[in-house]
Amino acid sequence: MRHKIKTVKPQQFIDITDKVANEVKNSNVRSGIAVVYVPHTTAGVTINESADPDVVRDIISALDKTYPVHGEYLHIEGNSHAHIKASLMGSSCTVVIQDGRLLLGTWQGIYFCEFDGPRNREFYVKIIEG
Ligand code: ZN
Repeated sequence: MRHKIKTVKPQQFIDITDKVANEVKNSNVRSGIAVVYVPHTTAGVTINESADPDVVRDIISALDKTYPVHGEYLHIEGNSHAHIKASLMGSSCTVVIQDGRLLLGTWQGIYFCEFDGPRNREFYVKIIEG
């Protein structure tokens, strides 16, 4: 299923765990996998700690130190840092579904990762029974 998402900052992680969990619930699939896919080249998806929001802030700031917004890049569009960060986070993630629920760890959340916002974005969730 396609989900629309509107980012409001140049770089931002948005917790989409509830959206994915709801889709699992509505599918009535008890056992399988959920795939989250982001069809963008300057945004990605990752799983990391959702209990302390400072963790994702630290991830963004660490990425910025290594891949600064205004670095020495060839890409004429001027957003190479965002392309690099999106590739590092990846464009999809997979979570096991067990007993009708996402099998996430206690501290894990699924994050949509914006690196060239704000923009209107989208992501897809595919539930596969098995
Ligand atoms: Zn570009």
